[in-house]
Amino acid sequence: PNHYDPIDFKDWWVDSSKTPKMNATMVSLVRNGELQDMLSSIKEFEDSFNSKYHYDWVFLNDEEFTPRFIKAVTEAVSGNAKFGLVPKEHWSYPDFIDQEKAAQTRVDMANIIYGGSESYRFMCRYQSGFFWRHPLMLDYDWYWRVEPSTRYPCNIPEDLFKHMNDNQKIYGFTQTLHEYQETIPSLFDSVLNFTNEHPEYIPHKNFANFVSEDGGESYNGCHYWSNFEVANMKLWRSKQYRQFFDFLDHRGGFFYERHGDAPVHSVFASIFLPFEQIEYLNIGYYHIPFWNLPFEVESNHVSDEEVLEKSKQKYVDLNCQVDPREDFTMDGFSCGSLYFGLNKLKSLGIVSE
Ligand code: GDP
Ligand code: MN
Repeated sequence: PNHYDPIDFKDWWVDSSKTPKMNATMVSLVRNGELQDMLSSIKEFEDSFNSKYHYDWVFLNDEEFTPRFIKAVTEAVSGNAKFGLVPKEHWSYPDFIDQEKAAQTRVDMANIIYGGSESYRFMCRYQSGFFWRHPLMLDYDWYWRVEPSTRYPCNIPEDLFKHMNDNQKIYGFTQTLHEYQETIPSLFDSVLNFTNEHPEYIPHKNFANFVSEDGGESYNGCHYWSNFEVANMKLWRSKQYRQFFDFLDHRGGFFYERHGDAPVHSVFASIFLPFEQIEYLNIGYYHIPFWNLPFEVESNHVSDEEVLEKSKQKYVDLNCQVDPREDFTMDGFSCGSLYFGLNKLKSLGIVSE
């Protein structure tokens, strides 16, 4: 009865050679108290990337930004800085949520990271379902999420927004991790319920085996770490994602569990996008406590010697000032080796030990 109806992105692409920059913005959800940490991210990000392009930068907050914050940040960015207040109805309980049950959950989950926090849950729900609806964000298609206290210590040699557009990519990540299952016990059950209701939304060749290694029985916890994202907001603005978000929201997992926006974005992108629309953006990046360092990535036919040699050269070319042994990509807590395996790629770092 339901005819095939996956996300239709065929008219999302532009001829980027006709425009100096893409319809894109940096976006940071941030608190006034994080001013210094925001400035340190901006400084390194501008040096490595944005001083070449001057993309706009939208700052969002659930409280009014202080004049001090606005002044300091406006001076630090090379594009237009815009400051937005998150509307109360996007940062509070929807009426279908039982607030006593939510409060009890915070008590029960107090020993899990952020499990006792109410604001963290509003934040994750906001990043899942609302930032792309903010009036300031409606002017743009593409966004790059930048958090306070993140690092960009290597040159970023191309416009990643153009890279995404020109290669017809929709969702770009730089690190992957396993989620703590205690924060998302019912997430995958919700996903399976949704896919049963809407099998017509699933494209023929998706990337579901990145999030489930047992053929869709269970979630392996793998997710793109969403403190870094370069993506097209048409993905989140699609009918398919809006319905998915509403479905999860009504099941209550943002409040009765502690669903993070990273697994929410990740399971959606992995299941509802064709696999080739997800892109590993291999830049130098740090979010506490993990580094991604930009080693060479090649098809697994290429010899180890060649991959190693190219990695060393790349590290020099990009002027990376970080010990290459810090790279987290192939760590067991990362999902890097699964990602590389599924894509028949290899990356070897630059020190063979
Ligand atoms: P973690 O990366 O999971 O440890 O979470 P963070 O504390 O880094 O929060 C994720 C992002 O949301 C960061 O950009 C924070 O600055 C921002 N954030 C978290 N909580 C709040 C909040 O209550 N208000 C505002 N305005 N921003 C927040
Ligand atoms: Mn963070």
